[in-house]
Amino acid sequence: MSDCLFCKIVAKEIPADIVYENARALAFRDINPQAPTHVLVIPRAHHADGAALAAADDGLADDVLKAAHAVAVQEGVAEGGYRIVFNTGAGAGQTVFHVHAHVLGGRGLTWPPG
Ligand code: 5GP
Ligand code: ZN
Repeated sequence: MSDCLFCKIVAKEIPADIVYENARALAFRDINPQAPTHVLVIPRAHHADGAALAAADDGLADDVLKAAHAVAVQEGVAEGGYRIVFNTGAGAGQTVFHVHAHVLGGRGLTWPPG
């Protein structure tokens, strides 16, 4: 998608602090971090949100989840606990409509989130 911010990060047209990548997923630090570790994990392929990713039915959701866990291990937050969040839809706070998992950790995380 030519007008998608995260597709431009995938294409390396916009810089990002990339911390992990494989053939189907990419992870980079959030520009406005909400925790000591705040990384966004995205599929390279454009899907608007978690619902579209789930409907893709090609194992891509599995790949994104595995990449999110790999990021948590790499960032050193897997042992202490971390959160994976897919804001799905504007009502849930989604602002970028290229599906992304937020990986948050490195501090105590309250529940429920706001
Ligand atoms: P959402 O609100 O859609 O769940 O999350 C979008 C996230 O993308 C936000 O946490 C926001 O800080 C992050 N973000 C927005 N623009 C950029 C950008 O250009 N670069 C990076 N690294 N993160 C961005
Ligand atoms: Zn996109």
